Amino acid sequence: MIWKTGSVRVASRPATAITNIAVSQPAIQAAALRGEAVATGMAAILAHARIAHEVAGRKVQQSGSDDDARPTLGAASGDPMTTSYDAIVIGAGQAGPPLAVRLAKAGLKTALIEREHLGGTCVNDGCIPTKTLIASARAAHVVRRAADWGARIDGPIGVDMKAVKARKDRVVADSIASLAKWMASTPGLSLIWGQARFVAPNAVEVDGARLEAPRIFINVGGRPVLPTWDGIADVPVLTNVSMMAIDTVPEHLIVAGGSYIGLEFAQMYRRFGARVTVVEYGDRLIAREDRDVSREVQAILEREGIAFHFSVQHARVSPGAGGSGVRVSLDAESGAEVVEGSHLLAAVGRKPNTDDLGLDKAGIATDARGYIVVDDELRTSVAGIWALGDANGRGAFTHTSYNDHQIVADNLLHGGQRKVSDRLTTYALFTDPPLGRVGMSEAEVRARAKPALVAVMPMTRVGRARERGETQGFMKVFVDAESERILGAALLCIEGDEIVHSILDVMAADASYKVIERAVHIHPTVSELIPTLLGQLEPLKDAPAPP
Ligand SMILES: Cc1cc2nc3c(=O)[nH]c(=O)nc-3n(C[C@H](O)[C@H](O)[C@H](O)COP(=O)(O)OP(=O)(O)OC[C@H]3O[C@@H](n4cnc5c(N)ncnc54)[C@H](O)[C@@H]3O)c2cc1C
Repeated sequence: MIWKTGSVRVASRPATAITNIAVSQPAIQAAALRGEAVATGMAAILAHARIAHEVAGRKVQQSGSDDDARPTLGAASGDPMTTSYDAIVIGAGQAGPPLAVRLAKAGLKTALIEREHLGGTCVNDGCIPTKTLIASARAAHVVRRAADWGARIDGPIGVDMKAVKARKDRVVADSIASLAKWMASTPGLSLIWGQARFVAPNAVEVDGARLEAPRIFINVGGRPVLPTWDGIADVPVLTNVSMMAIDTVPEHLIVAGGSYIGLEFAQMYRRFGARVTVVEYGDRLIAREDRDVSREVQAILEREGIAFHFSVQHARVSPGAGGSGVRVSLDAESGAEVVEGSHLLAAVGRKPNTDDLGLDKAGIATDARGYIVVDDELRTSVAGIWALGDANGRGAFTHTSYNDHQIVADNLLHGGQRKVSDRLTTYALFTDPPLGRVGMSEAEVRARAKPALVAVMPMTRVGRARERGETQGFMKVFVDAESERILGAALLCIEGDEIVHSILDVMAADASYKVIERAVHIHPTVSELIPTLLGQLEPLKDAPAPP
């Protein structure tokens, strides 16, 4: 946490219901930064509190098809510390706020409970801040390469990490402020600060107050785990959360974990000027990807001077010489090695925030790793309780969490029949160049044991990449030989995270790849080469032959 949250408590009904509406300190800071009087934000919140007060005790119409167990809205249960709602949402991550707003707009008296910060991981210490930092890192990289494009910089090139962090903080604060404004301007929605714990299938407790609802939605997200290395408890370890407070360039950053989060930080800090070493358990980077993708990403990062150690099965970490920094002794593919670093970042995985949620009190089933078990419509094992976002193990991205809220809201409020299994797997690795991914990898295509076609194009053949002087990477696509449907693509190239959507949309439309092949694209772009790529499809070697 960079900032503490402040809260405004408003007694909406003496002793029976407390509407605890809070505004985060960053929201106030951001409002002030934008030149808005802080009182404006507070006025909005107090206005919201009044609305919440007026809604209490009033029967509200509920729209949609969910007719079961309609509660007496706003009625207290008799227990002075109990407040009844129509819906409770736990966690203000990427599914919670939009869901809470939709429920409230549908006329349901809704409580959104958050223990730390609006926007969850994505806004505070995930996607938004890291992509903001990556933009600064890319600027530094481009400036260093200026001569490649014929631009002259007379004088030293440096990175002002305090300015980099301040810019990141502003972007984050703006996002939080707009979320806070959205929540505060939604009638029928109460934002309650505190840690929620189930005490019954239809009730949670927050700071000793009991909240009940016939519908409860869990959006509690996850948190980083540390490597299980000997001595890890004896050294300072950074995570994606504490990295957000860094405003100096580490002399030598050791990154434990060569997957998506670790590699984004590795390249970013290398470009800020740190020495960077990545230590990976597996024998290659981003093991979920195909080997050719892993190899190319590694080559790109090695060209920038990042060092790697693979197959590190055993490591021991201790304070560095003189007590500062860290010393990692590892047993790697390359033999026994000692790496001395100034900082250690753990990027070895995440676990769901489900261990302190009182799930046993509600009887909600989890799997062996703590993820809440859900069906295709995100219902948990207990009727009236849904789980959305990273905590259900059905996605690990902002877009999957947001899509979870769309599935639940459409099904609940509009009689929809949306399912998690309808969505295509898609994501990006935001290195430079980025990797845009959709659908199956080559390993998954092969595992189908059906005829498939493949096409690969190195970026050195793409005019736009040559013009920009950024020809690293390649594009690869797989197609079902019989149905002509695209099975998957890996675009490791400039704008790969954007271009992949042209393929994704054709897949979502369940159309033949020939739709793209026949379309006329703008010249000169990377996208114009996608039809050319598809024109080069040939049978995937060693896969079953087309009929
Ligand atoms: C460094 C990093 C970079 C990332 N980059 C990307 C990216 O570029 N693109 C992408 O799609 N994804 C990215 N992700 C993943 C993305 O951040 C998450 O998938 C996304 O935030 C969705 O999470 P969520 O909605 O499940 O919950 P979260 O965003 O984690 O929010 C959960 C919220 O619940 C609150 N909470 C937890 N328990 C309780 C409780 N008991 N009571 C009250 N409140 C509680 C938490 O405080 C938190 O605010 C990144 C993640 C990391 C760590």
